[in-house]
Amino acid sequence: MAIVIIGAGLAGAKAAETLRTEGYDGEVILVGAEQEPPYERPPLSKGYLQGSAELGSVYVHDPDWYAGQRIELRLGTAATAIDPAARRVTLADGSSLPYERLLLATGATPRPLPVPGADLGGVHYLRTIADSQALRAAFAHGGEVVVVGAGWIGLETAAAARQAGCEVTVVDPAPAPLYRVLGQEVGGVFARLHERHGVRFRFGASVTELRGDSTVREAVLSTGETLRADEVVVGIGVTPNVELAKNAGLEVADGVVTDASLRTSDPAIWAAGDVAESANPLLGRRIRVEHWANALNGGPAAARAMLGQEVVYDRVPYFYTDQFELGMEFSGDVTGHDEIVYRGSVEDLEFVAFWLRHGTVIAGMNVNVWDVVSDIQSLIRAKRPVNADRLADPGVPLAEV
Ligand code: FAD
Repeated sequence: MAIVIIGAGLAGAKAAETLRTEGYDGEVILVGAEQEPPYERPPLSKGYLQGSAELGSVYVHDPDWYAGQRIELRLGTAATAIDPAARRVTLADGSSLPYERLLLATGATPRPLPVPGADLGGVHYLRTIADSQALRAAFAHGGEVVVVGAGWIGLETAAAARQAGCEVTVVDPAPAPLYRVLGQEVGGVFARLHERHGVRFRFGASVTELRGDSTVREAVLSTGETLRADEVVVGIGVTPNVELAKNAGLEVADGVVTDASLRTSDPAIWAAGDVAESANPLLGRRIRVEHWANALNGGPAAARAMLGQEVVYDRVPYFYTDQFELGMEFSGDVTGHDEIVYRGSVEDLEFVAFWLRHGTVIAGMNVNVWDVVSDIQSLIRAKRPVNADRLADPGVPLAEV
């Protein structure tokens, strides 16, 4: 019987690939709601959106690679139900697939903007290739772009819009960009970067209404201000696609709950990528990670677990972004930090920021400083107090702090 993977994104594709590289010879079926073969999303808000990367570069594998690996792609067909007792998945085309083991890699969906006028033309979300193409075409006209949400997607899109020659205003109720992830102080680095490039911010404000005829013309803010808006981009977070799991009776919290081997509450079903909320032994709690590296590594980890291998998925959460001249990598989780230590020059945008709790490094962000992620992650894994002066001193190798 087959191993069925629901969700033909990065986690699903990497899981299928790993089943083969680990020697699994049975049937592998990858079911995807989108028509596209599996692709990577990060370029959709960066190189591909800006026109510097080709569409061909976003795909995980060439379409014929799957046939060569005897991985059956069922694209353009959503799975609509799972019957765990019968071990059977129903698809939208009415067919059904029996499985021996099942992986849920259904990812996440952008949260809709809950205000009047959100359904007007010119209001965009960014998750798929088609979304990115629509934005690229919209930015080519120039004009006023209002970005709702100063998170990763909002900031990257703001940078792309600005680089395309648009006037850009980013609106967020928080006091700084990326406030929830990085806090106010480090979030301020991103605010200054964007402001230097002419992006305007409205912090402490939310969009309460969008106005226009058939297409959007204005965004009304909670402060009473009205912004002209030829295009609106909504980047206010995502919701994990948990409905299938919920309806099948699996344990679901913020995401599909798994143990550290990515197995769900059903012994024949695993979950990986954006949709999974997994026990992380390193952090000592469950965590749902909405980042590329988690799909890249979680898919393969789940595949190995499905083949009966001993798997403990305890990776340090990792994220990267590129905005204007800033490239950065972030490792860990800042929750509960009581100190921030900088190594290098924040002003020159060449530094590493460390978040500490009780003198122990819990997160690190390297900005335009490279090849330090494994040292930063070793410090996080070590869970031992460090000397803050040595941590701040670029003369002391991170491995010797
Ligand atoms: P997804 O990529 O969401 O794939 C899941 C797939 O499952 C989708 O194709 C979906 O249609 C399909 N599906 C859902 N339900 C069903 C169903 N019932 N039946 C069949 N198929 C179904 N992360 C970073 O770390 N750095 C970045 O710079 C970065 N940039 C990003 C830029 C953009 C524009 C976006 C959208 C995301 C970015 N991310 C970034 C996040 C990263 O892309 C995601 O974490 C990653 O795509 C998650 O992969 P996944 O396979 O879990 O889910």
